[in-house]
Amino acid sequence: MEMLIGGTWQPAASGRTEDVTSPFDGTVTGTVPVAGPADVRAAVDRAEAGAVTWRRAAELADERAEQTAQIISAEAGKTITEARGEAARSGDLIRLAAFEGTQLYGDALPLDANRGTGLDKIGFTIHQPVGIVVAITPFNYPALLVMHKLAPALAAGNAVVLKPARTTPLTALALARCFTDAGLPDGVLSVLTGPGRSLGDALVTDPRVRKVSFTGSTATGQRITQIAGIKKLSLELGSSCPVVVLPDADIELAASAVAAGGYINAGQVCISVQRVITHPAVGTDFLAALVPKVEAIRTGDPGSPDTTMGTLITIDEAERVAETIRHAVAGGAELLTGGERDGAIVSPAVVAGVDPRSPFSQEELFGPAVAVSSAEDFQGAIAQANGTPYGLGAGIFTSDVSGAVRAIREIDAGNVHINWTPLWRADLMPYGGLKASGIGKEGPRSAVAEMTDAKTVILHGRPW
Ligand code: NAP
Repeated sequence: MEMLIGGTWQPAASGRTEDVTSPFDGTVTGTVPVAGPADVRAAVDRAEAGAVTWRRAAELADERAEQTAQIISAEAGKTITEARGEAARSGDLIRLAAFEGTQLYGDALPLDANRGTGLDKIGFTIHQPVGIVVAITPFNYPALLVMHKLAPALAAGNAVVLKPARTTPLTALALARCFTDAGLPDGVLSVLTGPGRSLGDALVTDPRVRKVSFTGSTATGQRITQIAGIKKLSLELGSSCPVVVLPDADIELAASAVAAGGYINAGQVCISVQRVITHPAVGTDFLAALVPKVEAIRTGDPGSPDTTMGTLITIDEAERVAETIRHAVAGGAELLTGGERDGAIVSPAVVAGVDPRSPFSQEELFGPAVAVSSAEDFQGAIAQANGTPYGLGAGIFTSDVSGAVRAIREIDAGNVHINWTPLWRADLMPYGGLKASGIGKEGPRSAVAEMTDAKTVILHGRPW
């Protein structure tokens, strides 16, 4: 018989064996290798390699951050500054998720408190990996959104099949290499590049897949819910995020925050500011503060450190955004700045007097333009903020605590920010939308929980 070293059945390095005999009559019951110092070293080496797989993957992601940033910028048109910020979060996400993978405690169930159960039974829960996770990711954060799925899925003990966006597969492949180079066992991770519709349908409907973790448009999310069958679903979908500016707001702060939150990644962020709802008492001051800040955004070559806003993902997307702005203006809105297309770039736009019921407000824009409208009072502002099918993120600017508390309770959004815009995310926080913006939460703790199954176990000391 051979012994097991780090997954391989093998003889001792010395070739020596010894018999195992019965203590009863001395007969030989088996023969085993006699391990020596070389075998000890080999076993500990393999165990060490196994134990550091995660740490090594995080180190590799850190070491390769600049390379990843260059890939992101090149394939997504994101500015190199933003791409560096995104790539730098990959290693941290692996570390955060690896920690959460060690925190899958179960609960002891107080069955003695249940009528008639008494002390004769013991109950507890355990958590185990769901098995196979399918991860499908969009183009706009090709590293971050991949890592928010891969890291927790692997930390929870699952195998993963990843389908990245067709426009940004290179970042996903580079990140996958961090895991395989770190020693991730064969079979645990696959990355399939190709067309979303056919690959997506095949992956999502496969009954062996126990969990689909999808980030992308609401339309694709809708299709997945219709065909997935009985499996766990996490859906991080589209949005039309509002910001409310109340009369007691710090207008300079609100304008600075919107000038960032509406235009980072050329507005191609699910938590981008799409709508600003101002009180009439401060609307003019807010626009006067906002417009010069937006005009100061420098578009151009994404690879240049001087560029502060890059391209949209394709020329077609840029044309769609420019056309939406033209349509709003034709409908009576006022274009205060921007909105011109040059190739895949759309100059950052501010559009005032937008009808809250118009497509510009109601549908996801996913481009560098902010629609400003007004509401007479708090109730009207909240109603407008809640008046779209979506509910991902929202922000409110006010110096009044009671107004802030009311907003926290009344705004229908998965993430609510007081005195900042929704475009803010700490990787460890629970993150996900309400209504048409999705189902479930990401963030390592939530994702690890959603990528595991809980079992309830009862030990019966007596029947019944
Ligand atoms: P998308 O068109 O829905 O694509 C997302 C991913 O789904 C891509 O990998 C795509 O592959 C794939 N896909 C396409 N058809 C599919 C199908 N029938 N079944 C399964 N997968 C399919 O979205 P996108 O344009 O890349 O991304 C922008 C959207 O993502 C926006 O709506 C944005 O709000 C949303 N988003 C949401 C969050 C959030 O956290 N809530 C974060 C980021 C982005 P192909 O690329 O090959 O088509």
